[in-house]
Amino acid sequence: MSHLPIQVHRPLLTVENVNFSYPNQVKVITGFSDTFFGGKVTALTGPSGCGKSTLLYLLGLMHRQSSGEIFIDGRPTSSMSDSERAMYRANKFGFVFQDAVLDPSRSVLENVMETSLYRNESRSRSRLKAYELMEEFGVASRASHRPGQISGGQAQRIALCRALMADPAFIIADEPTGNLDPNTRNVVLDAFRSRADAGSCVIIATHDPDVVSRC
Ligand code: ADP
Ligand code: MG
Repeated sequence: MSHLPIQVHRPLLTVENVNFSYPNQVKVITGFSDTFFGGKVTALTGPSGCGKSTLLYLLGLMHRQSSGEIFIDGRPTSSMSDSERAMYRANKFGFVFQDAVLDPSRSVLENVMETSLYRNESRSRSRLKAYELMEEFGVASRASHRPGQISGGQAQRIALCRALMADPAFIIADEPTGNLDPNTRNVVLDAFRSRADAGSCVIIATHDPDVVSRC
């Protein structure tokens, strides 16, 4: 019996000579090229205002580059339609904004489960998954609270739970440990490492040298 080599698929993000400027602004991103692999946690670091968040928005297909190309698993993203990009964002990406951006009118649990509605997942299964994630990040006891009743660090971890609901191939997080104490920061970094070990491509922006040294 012959054995065919097993091709392990790894999510891959390739950036080629990308430039970006906001309307009427000087260039924020100039000639950026890099490759991000599944299985790795990569930290983007640099002083405030250098363009970390902007680069994450580009990598997460929220901004369109002014020139250059970003490939996802070999596919050029600049020629994708807005709806195709939205589909990628919903199914392949988990994005965590720096300021959590939770819906204040809904409970923590509903916020975590929000994206699964777009993916037509069963409610009972997403509820189970949401609780598993909230347990992992130590915020399950806040499930029925509103975002106005929790701390900034809890909000940040709840946004992380929401982003991880679909086991995304690409996890992109903007200063995800900014509001966290050292223990909780370790929980979050361990979570990134375990997702990367499971094959995800994790990219974070941070100016914390301890976090950088662990990426
Ligand atoms: P960082 O995350 O490294 O602090 P940002 O990517 O947020 O940096 O910002 C990079 C530069 O782009 C800054 O000079 C900032 O003022 C500018 N900038 C960010 N967002 C906008 C925007 N929406 N419109 C215009 N300029 C912006
Ligand atoms: Mg930023």
